[in-house]
Amino acid sequence: MKYPLLTLVVALLLPTTLSAKKPKKITQNKDEFINELMSRMTLEEKIGQLNLLDAGQLNTGVGQKGVEDQSILNGEVGGFLSLMGVDRIREVQQYAVEKSRLGIPLLFGLDVIHGYHTIFPIPLAMSCTWDMEKVELAARTAAIEATADGIPWVYSPMVDICRDARWGRIAESAGEDPFLGSEMAKAMVLGYQGDKRHGGQYAPDEVMACVKHFALYGASESGLDYNVTDMSRVRMYNDYLAPYRAAVDAGVGSVMSSFNTIDYEPATASRWLLTSLLREQWNFKGFVVTDYGSIGEMRAWGCGDLQTCSARALSAGTDFDMCSRGFVGTLKKSLEEGLVTEKQIDIACRRMLEAKWDLGLFEDPYRYCNLPDKKQKDVLYTDASRALARQIAAESFVLLKNDNQLLPLEKKGKIALVGPMAHAPKNMRGNWAPTANTNPNEFSTLLESMRRAIGQQAEVVYAKGCNIHEDAQIEANWEVFGTDIRDPRPETELLNEALQTVSDADVIIAAIGESQEMTGESASRSDLSLPETQQRLLKALKATGKPIVVVYFTGRPVVMKWEKENIPAILNVWFGGSEGGDAICDVLFGDASPSGKLTTSFPQTTGQEPFYYNHMVTGRPTSKWFSKYATNYTDIDGSAVFPFGYGLTYTTFQYGSLSLSSDKLRSGGKIEAQVTVTNTGRRAGDEIVQMYIHDTAASIARPIKELKGFRRIHLEPGEQKTVTFEVDEELLKFYNADLRHVAEPGEFTLMVGPNSEDLQSKTFVLE
Ligand code: BGC
Repeated sequence: MKYPLLTLVVALLLPTTLSAKKPKKITQNKDEFINELMSRMTLEEKIGQLNLLDAGQLNTGVGQKGVEDQSILNGEVGGFLSLMGVDRIREVQQYAVEKSRLGIPLLFGLDVIHGYHTIFPIPLAMSCTWDMEKVELAARTAAIEATADGIPWVYSPMVDICRDARWGRIAESAGEDPFLGSEMAKAMVLGYQGDKRHGGQYAPDEVMACVKHFALYGASESGLDYNVTDMSRVRMYNDYLAPYRAAVDAGVGSVMSSFNTIDYEPATASRWLLTSLLREQWNFKGFVVTDYGSIGEMRAWGCGDLQTCSARALSAGTDFDMCSRGFVGTLKKSLEEGLVTEKQIDIACRRMLEAKWDLGLFEDPYRYCNLPDKKQKDVLYTDASRALARQIAAESFVLLKNDNQLLPLEKKGKIALVGPMAHAPKNMRGNWAPTANTNPNEFSTLLESMRRAIGQQAEVVYAKGCNIHEDAQIEANWEVFGTDIRDPRPETELLNEALQTVSDADVIIAAIGESQEMTGESASRSDLSLPETQQRLLKALKATGKPIVVVYFTGRPVVMKWEKENIPAILNVWFGGSEGGDAICDVLFGDASPSGKLTTSFPQTTGQEPFYYNHMVTGRPTSKWFSKYATNYTDIDGSAVFPFGYGLTYTTFQYGSLSLSSDKLRSGGKIEAQVTVTNTGRRAGDEIVQMYIHDTAASIARPIKELKGFRRIHLEPGEQKTVTFEVDEELLKFYNADLRHVAEPGEFTLMVGPNSEDLQSKTFVLE
């Protein structure tokens, strides 16, 4: 065990006679109250407020777990993560409030990442909706559910820009683009917290959000989790920091530091990051929590012993120590030895108390535990929240290919559903669904949903066809939390059974891809193609000559080159949450039209990673085909199999000509770009119109194009809509070599279209 044992971990046994008190009326204002409280706190109690422990009900890191009654009693704990269930939370809160000397309430946090009880699609999928209203609503729903079950603080949004699909945590992100990532960050913070841009207390059904992982975690070298990051400040400011900043500007209450290094220092120890940038430049007023055990891990980075690491972390601007027990174990000694000051401890303690005040916990420590059971049922996993999750899931699926309008399918004849993801209960929802993990069989598999959707109208036959991976050991790495059960039969037997099953089917639906634990934390992959056994299955199914639809489950962009070349219809469904199975059927059978567009580029081979559309121009610009001495590969053409922004639907759209209101933009003024889009098909549909800009002449190298605007529009058959984008100087700004945010006069290219490659362009000049 790597953490010093301060107290004995014991089960908390409370006399059932203890009863929660009524909310108290506090007459002081926030500062008066906190000043008075702090004047009564001992040094140990102040340090105790900086200690966040793992209650151990969910597995999110390696370390000592459990609720410690003695530590609570001594005022040595500020809060717990991963304690679930309102009764248990109330019980532990009551112990802190009634048994500890000062009765300071605990803060309970949880990884509510894509929903609480109603599970929404994984964040990467949510970003593919490009529907910020729905994203905000999903976060709002999660807040209502989490607070109804005792949780006032959630570790979301994760806004790390990810440009390397080998990194498993790309699933938790909004993809590769800082503009879209910032919109997502803002929508999620507003959904969780309401508008806290000017401070203020939380309503009882709002949660405090925690933007993470600050910063640059998505740029972990080689796509390897927990690895170093190293980049120039210019790149940081232009490409990586914007979404964190957007969350701070939206009033996020807390920030989680990241595991990686920045400028060769662990983020948790970076004073530049946590104080100069976050507080002095961005004016962040909330508290900073470490990631799980980050202070303890500084020892492995070579920063010294736990005492030195803890002192460095506090001095850098860390307030809340998640699971390292570094603060609680060493800060007193560090104060005595002059490594930290009392003022630093006071500042961190005050921030923690302010957060508890803002959440209304001093007035009523049971504020989030008050819903009577009956009322709770009206709030958790309701028909309305499920309907929303189902609609959002359908919006998040990306139709990658649909030759001869194979989709939508008719509900008739014999439909063969084949593949390891077809009937995989624990592989449907995505890998960070806390309540689902405690109740794994609650949600339907694709097979169950399909049988329900089709009823008597057609026959559905099923075969697994293969395991997720042929090698049981690798499959075990991908199913660490014991998810779907491996079929012990030889792969050839599974394949033959599938071929037998499909032999008299009219159409094959192949549900294949990644298990949910192939992405998420500690789930880097060195090969992004479909595991071989699944490839064999697909090839054999294709050889039958029957129409085949691939339903691809994944938490990251994968290599789909063969699939694109050989399969007529591909629907990428990510992990769709609790209602994912029903939503897939809605789309497959045409009750809903797909409308998602990719927020990450899909490469031809893993070797292209890190791979993203908004790369820099070079002195020898990329050419599609190999040409000697240009920025290209010798063995592939370097393009995406499916580019950023790409996605089809069941109708077709025609773009009219792009027009600009002027080809000159004066400083302080604005111009408009317009395009008319017509639905030229026979079904209604949603289109996501995208605008990109390229700065053709700047003082530093600039990306080949950057997303700078998007609109999601709905069009009935034959309907036309004109979409207008405003362009002003602000939109053209970037951080120059001196890190000044400037728009430089000169020529720009503005591009509009349905994805990042299929674009019309016009130029204008900023004067
Ligand atoms: C993850 C965080 C998470 C934390 C608490 C860490 O391992 O990196 O994203 O919020 O655990 O569960």
